[in-house]
Amino acid sequence: MILYIVATPIGNLSDLTSRAIETFKTVDAILCEDTRMTLKILNSLDFKKPLISFHQHSDERKFQDVLKMLREGQSLALVTDAGTPGISDPGGLLVAAAVKEFGNKLEVIPIPGACAAIAALSVSGFPTDKFLFLGFPPHKKGRKSYFERVAATEETVCFYESTHRILKTLGELGVVVGDRQLVVCRELTKIHETTYRGTSSDVTESLKNSSIKGEFVIIVGPKK
Ligand code: SAM
Repeated sequence: MILYIVATPIGNLSDLTSRAIETFKTVDAILCEDTRMTLKILNSLDFKKPLISFHQHSDERKFQDVLKMLREGQSLALVTDAGTPGISDPGGLLVAAAVKEFGNKLEVIPIPGACAAIAALSVSGFPTDKFLFLGFPPHKKGRKSYFERVAATEETVCFYESTHRILKTLGELGVVVGDRQLVVCRELTKIHETTYRGTSSDVTESLKNSSIKGEFVIIVGPKK
């Protein structure tokens, strides 16, 4: 009974690790947030494996089915759409349920790899001996206090944003952090990968002059 938590690429398929491939080959089945995404990976590797859909809307029965497979001694790999399962995605839900059910009897083994937050932090040039990761800003209620928390943090802060809200978020962030330096990474590891540096208004201007399409990581430099 082993549950492998397998990181997959955040854009560039070459970032899939050899251990991830080995793991996919040895497990009995792969639990996927979106089976189509995982199928693409398996097709590129030219092998087949049972894929089981498992996501944030999976119902109690699905959880029980997966726990039963583990109880029967099967080894499973869990992947989410991109990056490291559990980092701002539904990956952690299954780990929590499995640990609750089996405690120390279950081996949960990480197969590390890409993570958008870590990739962005690594090119930020900001101190990363300490940082605060805050996931996605809330869409509606709680945005003001979310950004106030960012502004109040002395250390480097990292969070995620989508194309739909990137300009709105940079605007609201700018109001509270003023001229604090930002690094905004767009489409990491993909064709249109771009890193923008400057204040919130600098980055907003650059994005408007290039493109706001894609996925974003925002890093806020530490307080001076
Ligand atoms: N578990 C993933 C990880 O390890 O990074 C994150 C999953 S979260 C649902 C998806 C968000 O991560 C995107 O909306 C974006 O903010 C960020 N992200 C994922 N891939 C990215 C990429 N290639 N470039 C920039 N940001 C990315």
